[in-house]
Amino acid sequence: MALVKCVDCGRSLSATATDCGGGCNSTDPFGKKRAEQKAQLVLMLVGLVVFALVFLAFHFDFLTAEMVKNFLFNRPK
Ligand SMILES: [Zn+2]
Repeated sequence: MALVKCVDCGRSLSATATDCGGGCNSTDPFGKKRAEQKAQLVLMLVGLVVFALVFLAFHFDFLTAEMVKNFLFNRPK
């Protein structure tokens, strides 16, 4: 059986373990939940930055509704 080390205390655990029983009692011994949370956070931040950039582009007239229309319908001016 494959052994994986707990990310919190370094104890060797079965790869199927859901907590670090007998060790630090971490409920996330391989950092999977943390990695997922981090990925979600990064995704959210990227989405927020893209939204902010589009908003600012419109706000400062770098991007106009006309440009978006031309881009979407691929029609030259
Ligand atoms: Zn542990």
